[in-house]
Amino acid sequence: MAARTVSSQSEAIVDIVCDVCRAEGFQVVKNPSRSRGSTPTVDIVASRNDESAERKLAFDCWQGESRVNGDQVEDFVRRIHALKLDGGVYVSAKGFTEEAEFMAKKLKVELWDLPKLKQHLVRISPQETARIPWTLPVSRQTASRVFTTGLANGNRLRMTSLPHLEFRPYIFVRFTVTAGRGQGVAIIVLDGVDGRACDSKLLEGNVPLSPTHILTECLDLQPLTGSMPQLPEGLDMKENMTVAELGISPDQLEPKISSEIQAETNLPPGSFTINEARLLHVPILTVELGEGDKVYRRIVQAATANMIWDDSATCSYCKLFSNSLCETCWSTTCMEHERRCSHCSRPVCSSCAVSKGIMGKKNLCPSCKEL
Ligand SMILES: [Zn+2]
Ligand SMILES: [Zn+2]
Ligand SMILES: [Zn+2]
Repeated sequence: MAARTVSSQSEAIVDIVCDVCRAEGFQVVKNPSRSRGSTPTVDIVASRNDESAERKLAFDCWQGESRVNGDQVEDFVRRIHALKLDGGVYVSAKGFTEEAEFMAKKLKVELWDLPKLKQHLVRISPQETARIPWTLPVSRQTASRVFTTGLANGNRLRMTSLPHLEFRPYIFVRFTVTAGRGQGVAIIVLDGVDGRACDSKLLEGNVPLSPTHILTECLDLQPLTGSMPQLPEGLDMKENMTVAELGISPDQLEPKISSEIQAETNLPPGSFTINEARLLHVPILTVELGEGDKVYRRIVQAATANMIWDDSATCSYCKLFSNSLCETCWSTTCMEHERRCSHCSRPVCSSCAVSKGIMGKKNLCPSCKEL
C-alpha cells in the first residue's frame, strides 16, 4: 500500500511553536508583515504583558536539512533589531553548530533544538485537540515498534524530526457478491482522504481480492466515540497530532465505493451489494530516523502497530532486505553489499570499503585505511 500520510513537517513545527507560545501566555502572530515585500520578517512574533510592559519575541523555525550556523543566528538578530523586538528564539530540529551557539550566547538569543522544544511541549497540559467520532486507540506496542529496526546496528540511528501522529479517515465497507463466480462476503477499505481502495479482506466465499490486511485487522478493535485516545508512554506528541479530513462528500460515497469494488474485484456492476459502510479514524505514526545525511522514514499503522512503510528495510544499493548500516555513509546494506572492516570490525558498505592486499584481500573502513 502506498503511504500517503505525510503532511508538511516544517509548517507543523511553526504550528507547534505557536501552541507552545500560546500555552505560555503569549499572543501569537504567524508570518507577520510577510505581505510587505522587502520588510525583514520572522516566522512568529509572540507578545505578552510582563509587569505592565509589553514584551515581544521573535521566533524563527529552521526547516533545512543542515544545522543552523553562526551567520544565520546573526541574520536573525539583525531582523529582530529591524523589527524592534525584545528578543528571539531560534528553533531548529536539526540542531545548531558550535559557532551558532557561540553567536547566540553573545547576541543573547535563545536556541531550541529538538530536546529543548520537547521540554516546552511537555509543559503544555494535554488538552484534546479535537473531538472526532470512531477513533481507534493507539496500541501500546507502537512506540517500541517504530524505533526497533531489523538492522544489526540500527540503534545508531536517532530521531531527526518530531514524530507525527495523524488520525486518518478510512471507510470500511462490507459487501456481498451475489452473482457469478466467487460469491461471498468481503471487506474493502477506502482511504477517506483520496477515496482510493487500499486494503481488502475476504470474510467468506471466494471473491477475488488482493489483500494486505494492514487495515482490515482494525476491524477487531473497539473504536472510541467522541474523544481522542490516551497515548501510550513514549509517544509524548499530543501537539504533533493532526486529524486528516474526509475528502469524499456523502453523495459521492456510494458511487465511489461501487467503482472501487469493481476495480478491485473485476466484478460487473449489479453483481454485488453493499451491506454496510463505516468510517473509522486510524492512527498513523510517522517518524524519521537518520545519521549523517541519511534520513529513513518509518510509518506505522498505530492501532495494531503494523509497519506500513520503512525506508531502512531495504538495501540502499539493490533493494534486497537490509542487514546493517554502513558506519561511514549510513547507507543500508544487504549481505551482498555489506563489508566488515578487518581492523575495527565495523560494518561498511561496498562503496566505502577499501580493499587492501593482492593476496587474501582485506576490507578496511576509510578511517582504518589511513592508519
Ligand atoms: Zn544490496
Ligand atoms: Zn558507505
Ligand atoms: Zn575500520
